[in-house]
Amino acid sequence: MHLVKVVEFGTSSDTDKDEDVKAYRSMRRKLIFSALFSFPVLVLSMGELVPGLKELLAELLPIKTNLFIQFILSIPVVFFFGSFIFSKGVKSVVKRKLNMFTLLSLGTSIAWGFSVVALFLPQIFPASLKMSNGLVPIYFEATVVIITLVILGQMLELLAHAKTNGAIKELLNLVPPTALVIRSGNEMVVPLAEVRVGDRVRVKPGEKIPGSVVTGGTINLNGSFIMIARKIGGDTLLARIIDMVNEASRSKAPIQRLADTVAAYFVQVVILVSLATLLIWGIGFSKWDHGIVNAIAVLIIACPCALGLATPVSIMVGTGKGAKSGILIKNAKAIEQMRRVDTLLVDKTGTLTVGKPKGTVLRGNGSYSDDDVLRLAASVDAFSEHPLAAAIVTAAKDKGLPLSDASDFVSITGMGVKARLNGHEVAVGNAKLLRELGGKSPYDEEYVRKLQDAGNTIMFVLDDSHIAGYIGVADPIKDTTKDAVRLLHEPKVRIVMLTGDNPVTAKAVAKTLGFDDFKAECMPEDKYSEVKRRQSSGAFVAMAGDGINDAPALAQADVGIAMGTGTDVAMESADITLVKGDLNGIAHAKVLSVLVMRNIKENLFFAFAYNAIGIPIAALGLLNPIFAGLAMALSSVSVLGNALRVKSIKLS
Ligand code: ADP
Ligand code: MG
Repeated sequence: MHLVKVVEFGTSSDTDKDEDVKAYRSMRRKLIFSALFSFPVLVLSMGELVPGLKELLAELLPIKTNLFIQFILSIPVVFFFGSFIFSKGVKSVVKRKLNMFTLLSLGTSIAWGFSVVALFLPQIFPASLKMSNGLVPIYFEATVVIITLVILGQMLELLAHAKTNGAIKELLNLVPPTALVIRSGNEMVVPLAEVRVGDRVRVKPGEKIPGSVVTGGTINLNGSFIMIARKIGGDTLLARIIDMVNEASRSKAPIQRLADTVAAYFVQVVILVSLATLLIWGIGFSKWDHGIVNAIAVLIIACPCALGLATPVSIMVGTGKGAKSGILIKNAKAIEQMRRVDTLLVDKTGTLTVGKPKGTVLRGNGSYSDDDVLRLAASVDAFSEHPLAAAIVTAAKDKGLPLSDASDFVSITGMGVKARLNGHEVAVGNAKLLRELGGKSPYDEEYVRKLQDAGNTIMFVLDDSHIAGYIGVADPIKDTTKDAVRLLHEPKVRIVMLTGDNPVTAKAVAKTLGFDDFKAECMPEDKYSEVKRRQSSGAFVAMAGDGINDAPALAQADVGIAMGTGTDVAMESADITLVKGDLNGIAHAKVLSVLVMRNIKENLFFAFAYNAIGIPIAALGLLNPIFAGLAMALSSVSVLGNALRVKSIKLS
């Protein structure tokens, strides 16, 4: 494997990473303009509601002119700012998957179309249908207000998304954008802006390549390579892990949002009621004109204006609440899924444990001294991103050991690392790596076993095929882990540890924490297939991890949870990121999920309730714009008020 890969190196640019922000800004622009056009329509139509205003308006504007202005102002709202609602509505019918947009398109287009006919051809309506001013009810204001509220809801959803993604990006950028540059043989860390074209830049495994021209967001997986210029080449393990991540994200069932499901039923019932209204008035009472107008009124009042808000406001308040507690939730789907999780698969190193090992045991084997072992290991691990590697390098630095020049570094995810030092192949890793590379010399197996029983992780150091020695590190369990396990066991979540570490250490840790099950010596594929296996036997799986080796499993799980303290690739594959890596966040996310979903259901009730009451009123021919306006206002206020309650809930 070649160390030097040639990649295109560019200055960091923030343009493409902010697509979320762009989508949000575009929707915000739509909202502002839609509101600007809708507000005067609302004022012009308020004559009926506000005492005195009617007379004042009538004095200023003849009613026909007033309505004509409303008509003109409504045009851009319906045909431009809100047009996406109608294309989604049409699509839902074409695909035969009725949803919230079917209902909203149907209601608003009929309300608008009816109003246009009523304005321009009032003579086709019989006198019995006309109100005191000689006109049939006109609903321009209802149409534009509904559309504006839907846009508001969409904007809030995009805002929640952009905010969380922004927070995750900030986390990824916590480490200031620097690059490890090699100039005239010396390695130095320089700010990204100071990287010059032609510089050699070292990228450790799992790190984001510090230059965006390099296929944005590309993550280096198993090599620690040096890049100079032009383009990154495909890399076998990289390609495999990316494949697994992609496959996993594709196969995830798309969420069928609750609002859509309810709307799909509602719209069918409404159409039936509307038809029944037409037929009963027409056949039963021989009043087809009343039948038509009332059937249309049913369709208009049934259009729930707060429907577009019901889900997004709860999600937004919920994700905001999560973010305050260090839980960054990337998508609405994760909020929905989290409450259903019954199995948590969890990585060990860096997830359950601090990942900053304390206390190192060093043993030289045969003719190797303890220092030899540490120096060899650190020389190779200097290239690695692994938490255990960092501990080894720190230990060597503390002892003032000089590191040797390494070349051909390769990270064997789940096992360890190897490189060439002075013509020798030196490897550091677990027993699996030892078996793989055929390490031969005898060593004190009993002592190793004792260390492992005490929960220590053992890394063997191989010098060609000689076992030069081993390093045992005690990686302490995070203070918060025990609490988290207790919190998760309460709602009967099965917790299973999946680790790349050896079975003895794994067993010791699993026992200390009271886990239901564990699996040791897992390769990335093993973690991934374990998630799949449990899913296919009916479990609803969350996976928590921090490393490169966890990424495919994180993407495959129903909910992937990354540690904010871990690698970039883990965070990018997961749905939720725990900023400080505190596992209590998993239990809290579950509580939040239950509460947010309940809140959404309540909101849907409020969104539909007033309209449902309006349906029989409309069918009887008693609907007037005052009631329609009141229903809209009340349902929106109830929905917003209810969603804000999520702010004050306690998660722990
Ligand atoms: P986990 O799944 O528990 O997070 P990993 O799969 O990252 O653990 O690592 C598994 C084992 O492989 C470690 O316990 C360690 O023995 C070995 N290993 C992995 N990476 C390195 C490295 N860079 N240096 C030394 N040992 C490593
Ligand atoms: Mg790990």
